[in-house]
Amino acid sequence: MEPDSLAPLFAPLTDLRGVGPTLAGLMKRACGGDRVIDLLFHLPESFIDRREQVSLRALVPGQTATVAVDVVRIEQPGNARQPTKAIVTDGTGFSELVFFKSFPTAKLILGTKVMVSGKVDDRRNMVHPDHIVGLDQADRLPPVEPVWGLTAGLFPWHLRRPMAEALTRIPPLPEWHDPALLAREQWPTFAEAFAALQTPTAPPPPKMRQRLAYDELLAGQVALALVRRRVRARPGRALVGNGALRKMALASFGHRLTVPQTEVLHEIDADLAAPRRMLRLLQGDVGSGKTLVAILAMLRAVEAGAQAALLAPTEVLAQQHLRTLERIAPVPAALLTGSVKGAARTRIFAGLADGSIPLVVGTHALFQEKVEYHDLALAVIDEQHRFGVEERLLMGSKGPATDILVMTATPIPRTLLLTQWGEMQVSRLSGKPAGRRPVRTTLHSLATLPDVTDGIARALDGGARVYWVCPLVAESEANDLAAAEARYAELRDRFGAAVGLAHGQQESAVREAALADFAAGRTRMLVATTVIEVGVDVAEATVMVIEHAERFGLAQLHQLRGRVGRGREASFCLLLHDDGLTDIAKRRLLLLRDTEDGFRIADEDFRLRGGGDLLGTRQSGMPGWRLADPVEDEGLLHMAGKDAELLLQKDARLTSERGQAVRLLLRVFERTAAMRTLHSG
Ligand code: ADP
Ligand code: MG
Repeated sequence: MEPDSLAPLFAPLTDLRGVGPTLAGLMKRACGGDRVIDLLFHLPESFIDRREQVSLRALVPGQTATVAVDVVRIEQPGNARQPTKAIVTDGTGFSELVFFKSFPTAKLILGTKVMVSGKVDDRRNMVHPDHIVGLDQADRLPPVEPVWGLTAGLFPWHLRRPMAEALTRIPPLPEWHDPALLAREQWPTFAEAFAALQTPTAPPPPKMRQRLAYDELLAGQVALALVRRRVRARPGRALVGNGALRKMALASFGHRLTVPQTEVLHEIDADLAAPRRMLRLLQGDVGSGKTLVAILAMLRAVEAGAQAALLAPTEVLAQQHLRTLERIAPVPAALLTGSVKGAARTRIFAGLADGSIPLVVGTHALFQEKVEYHDLALAVIDEQHRFGVEERLLMGSKGPATDILVMTATPIPRTLLLTQWGEMQVSRLSGKPAGRRPVRTTLHSLATLPDVTDGIARALDGGARVYWVCPLVAESEANDLAAAEARYAELRDRFGAAVGLAHGQQESAVREAALADFAAGRTRMLVATTVIEVGVDVAEATVMVIEHAERFGLAQLHQLRGRVGRGREASFCLLLHDDGLTDIAKRRLLLLRDTEDGFRIADEDFRLRGGGDLLGTRQSGMPGWRLADPVEDEGLLHMAGKDAELLLQKDARLTSERGQAVRLLLRVFERTAAMRTLHSG
């Protein structure tokens, strides 16, 4: 197969007929990408079945129904605010078709017969039915309609034709799955599965999505296995140190290690001292003190005469880690992120290459091809879930025998973790550093916002520092931002210059300054989007307000709450919520109110969500999956893990016929880091 045979899939959406830049922009918002493949991957959330015709007498409020009726009367409104109505009958009863906006005069003609399909309201009428066609055109009524996630301004009919055209862009692909597996599961081909889901003629059976979920999971597992082999193929080394640097660092830090920190550090030291590669996961609840452990591990590498790197998910966190390093590490540390440019960047490249910089912290810039290390012995990867697994593991190929320590606060169940990462040792850091007080969490209806704000005013008067997290508005950062800016303007009107603003779309220097002002107490209230979710550490902050808490995932709320309760003062978390909470939503917030144990919150959250919660994968703490949900599809994930191992045992370079097809699979799912391991020796 030609290497560019996949090009039509990766073409921009504007290549599709009828899709201009404006529509493409809306589609990008809904689909999460602006290429043909992003549209295809935007699977429906549910399906409306219009195949069965019912009589008017049998209409059930709330359901979608299709009826064949006579138009017997048309009622024009008395004034412009009232709707136009068509009264229809099929002999079993009467119903009204109600139109507040333009009445379809061409379709609803007095005395004619029509097929109508739409949602039945409480009075067994239909307001703006979805479809109206003449009886002779019944075949123009879509039998089964996919319900896609949309965004403001985007309607299903915008997607229908582009989707049909996108399906034609899927090139003929060789089958990458084992024929025996396909036969057993009775799975369709890749293209058939998309057609069945995106342009259905009948409600698709579960196997259609399962096939695609398995494609994605297999791509992930093969990619992981390839990178792991590459990393493992290199020998490890023994890192031992005399403890001198650590001792100085702890002295500057000013506190003793907690017992769990000491235990975890012992486990890490044993790995470092052993002549094999370390691949260890440090799982610890928010605020349990992982950073200090990481820094001490890094100093062990430096004591042994080598270098260590700390990879952070965001620029903000990288800068914060740098400040911590500068405060406690007795050797020089450098920052390498996208915003370090020009001469400074060149200087850091040189220092890393000649070894004069022993410690470096940064974002993904750290593992770019260009960066060379003199002797990178340890890579610490903070808050794993923001990076692709293979990308992170590739840090391990930056040195002759780089050990890897991954830190995460996301309490994913252990079996899932292992399958996502492959074999790795796991250390758990429990508890919190001594002297820290629990965070008191309370729930408040948004209707009481004025009272809440008064309470905050009193807290500010008393010297408190307050985070105010603005709601997630939609799948779109632009809308979130608007909400944050509006709230900021209001709070600033009331509290003046004490209020700062931080969000993801600021220039990083501006955002940094906002965070630094807050950390230093120059501002005492920080209005923010979720940029502060991960790891921001301001010990003096004691109040966290979260607006529309019900729109956040529990893990995310727990992370946000973890931003307070870091110092000696009593801390508070105020969860503001809508009045009309569903039962589940209410229970989720109560759970958060009643416990601060991140692992318990995660477990209960999995349980509470059960099947079919709308928030779906976004809740499971494992973003990055588009067709599969590793929690729901855990069985498939395990299958894919074994499948990938077997495949690579037989065909490590993916050169067999199936191997070639799997290469295409990796490209379809853009597992580029893994692809690189195949190209290089
Ligand atoms: P996380 O595990 O969420 O990354 P951090 O490393 O940010 O947690 O630590 C949380 C807070 O606890 C920080 O302010 C840190 O300085 C403090 N801390 C960490 N270890 C200790 C300790 N042994 N004694 C006192 N405070 C500590
Ligand atoms: Mg942290």
